[in-house]
Amino acid sequence: MQLTNHEDVYMTYTNLFHMAFYCAALLVCITSIAFTLFQKRTDLTHNKIFLLMNYIVLINGLTCFLLESIEPLIHLSYVFYHLRYGLELFYFIVHSALAPTLFYYVMNVTRTSLDRPKYLKFICLFPFILTEIFVCLNPLTHYVYWYDENLLFHRNWGENFIYIIAMIYTSIAFTNLLLSWHALRRRNRYSMIYFFCLTLFGVIVQFISIGIKSELFCEALALVGLMIAVEIEDDRIDTETNVYNRNALKNDVKHLLMKRHSMNVLCLKITNIDMISKNTGVSNSDEIMKEITDYLKTLVPRQLLYHADENTMVLLQRQDSFEKNNFDIIDFAKNIYKRFQDDWIVHGVSIRFTPVIMIGVIPSQIKSLEDLLYMIDSPVPKDFENKILLNEDLYFFIRRAAVESAVSNGLKNGSFEVYYQPTHCLKGLRLHGAEALIRLHDKKIGVVYPEEFIPIAEQAGYIDDIDDFVLNQVCAFIKTGEPMKLGMDCINVNLSVLQCMGNGFVNRILGIVDKYDIPKNFINFEITESVSASDYELLADVIKELKSNGFLFSMDDYGTGYSNMHTLFSLDFDIVKIDKSILWDAENSEIGQIILENCVHMIRQMKRKILVEGVETQSQIDKLQALGVDYLQGYFFSKPITKSALLKYCEAI
Ligand code: C2E
Ligand code: CA
Ligand code: CA
Repeated sequence: MQLTNHEDVYMTYTNLFHMAFYCAALLVCITSIAFTLFQKRTDLTHNKIFLLMNYIVLINGLTCFLLESIEPLIHLSYVFYHLRYGLELFYFIVHSALAPTLFYYVMNVTRTSLDRPKYLKFICLFPFILTEIFVCLNPLTHYVYWYDENLLFHRNWGENFIYIIAMIYTSIAFTNLLLSWHALRRRNRYSMIYFFCLTLFGVIVQFISIGIKSELFCEALALVGLMIAVEIEDDRIDTETNVYNRNALKNDVKHLLMKRHSMNVLCLKITNIDMISKNTGVSNSDEIMKEITDYLKTLVPRQLLYHADENTMVLLQRQDSFEKNNFDIIDFAKNIYKRFQDDWIVHGVSIRFTPVIMIGVIPSQIKSLEDLLYMIDSPVPKDFENKILLNEDLYFFIRRAAVESAVSNGLKNGSFEVYYQPTHCLKGLRLHGAEALIRLHDKKIGVVYPEEFIPIAEQAGYIDDIDDFVLNQVCAFIKTGEPMKLGMDCINVNLSVLQCMGNGFVNRILGIVDKYDIPKNFINFEITESVSASDYELLADVIKELKSNGFLFSMDDYGTGYSNMHTLFSLDFDIVKIDKSILWDAENSEIGQIILENCVHMIRQMKRKILVEGVETQSQIDKLQALGVDYLQGYFFSKPITKSALLKYCEAI
């Protein structure tokens, strides 16, 4: 190369300066590509798009490097001139693909579906295709760039057009990023913002000063940011099974719910994992689940699989049309279930898994992250016959788990409250007392009634705590002296039969009540009639002991069980509460009327006081007055109300 004057020397330094920039971009790009390939992080769609972006920058870097190397030679021969023209054209063709690729990358990471409507994908590609045609026609039109007679490069308005199209893609991607902001992981958000800022910076610097070739270098560097934050998903991967972990599932479902994307969720629970651990001697359940995960990976790609819990795998499946896909997913579930009817070999031991498969739909059935967690975490009730649970079964399951969680939280954070429903004497309708009835106000699922949560609390082992809570509240209320002042004779407290049968029950009750130093005959315990006969002996002892301490007892819900009358009345109750259904039936039929009359007649002969609950109308009162019962309770007087409302109620009558 001949250096003739100062200007040529200056040109060479500039070239070297540019080449250093391109070299740096190339090295950064090669590092990202090598690292991604080395880690085999290539199977997800965004992995592929990420690699593609790197390849674009890499090819562009190489092209530019070549361009700079032949720059001083173009005066020597037309071959170099044409080569430069070709390389320049190639640069524009490849570089125009970067913004659309970024657009698809962001759409993929933010899980923005481009499938609906169907032509949307094509519309998104249209500006890109237009740009490519536009660039390819440059040898004829010279709209993008051209060379003057001194072989100097000149930009034309077409380059701005390419930039505008790129800006449109980038802006849509950026807007989408902002719209998905809360659904994205922090590191994803900020790495993408970093990407946008850095590339914009590179473009602006190069645009202002063509001598600083910062664009490609900034792009390569920005891609490293994406690689570190978005592409490396170590915190989302379960190392043992090599599928996504629980945190990833929570994040992804949160995202789907925010975007209101419809998805099928299939949850596969192995209910006998403990037994299998024992039989195979493999204490790590992850190792056992790996067998199942490997099988599931043959059915669906790994990015749809989540190891959500020790014994639970979750699979997400896109749902385009609910009816059609719901049918598909049921078939799919049946297939999986069929596989579980055969043996598996774990560590050389042949075993049989017991699976339960639940299928739900986001967001119509699984409305919140909590719903999903209820689905994953709560144990499947042993009496569940169906092994593939969906619709009502699933709803029942989710609701049950939600209520159980509300009960458990309620005990910790005080969302239980005792309400009182007044009882009245028939004679003169004078106030007699009140029944304590528990309420649960849960922040997430609202008010839950005892009819729903008491059986769940009994099964889940919370009933003792609930009954203790109610008894404590009632004792504290009695201790204030207000109930006596207002003319009440007693306050009724419901007891769970299960609780009465527990060890040390009597001592526990005494332990609570004694703390308050209140008259024990102010507390009237209610026990439901529908208790199985085998428990009578034990129950009789409990009642006897508590009565000897001064407490009163009522038999609740009389007429709803099928108890042996002889054993039933051998229990020492003070009051028998006739169930509301008996009263209501008496109004509807002659047989009902006969049953009510006979109940009253028999209880009176047994020399017990009678309370009738569910009194709602004056005509019911008239009927009961004619029959001559002792006490009344029902909405006619008041619904169950808060303590302060009860005090006001009592003062007003
Ligand atoms: P229960 O002991 O038979 O309570 C009577 C239920 O009938 C109450 O429902 C009450 O609100 C309702 N009721 C009263 N009068 C009328 C009326 O005139 N019309 C109508 N339609 N309903 C009326 P609640 O409060 O939902 O309680 C349901 C059941 O939950 C109770 O039945 C009781 O078995 C159980 N329960 C309530 N509180 C407790 C508690 O603190 N501990 C235990 N172990 N069980 C409780
Ligand atoms: Ca009751
Ligand atoms: Ca009752």
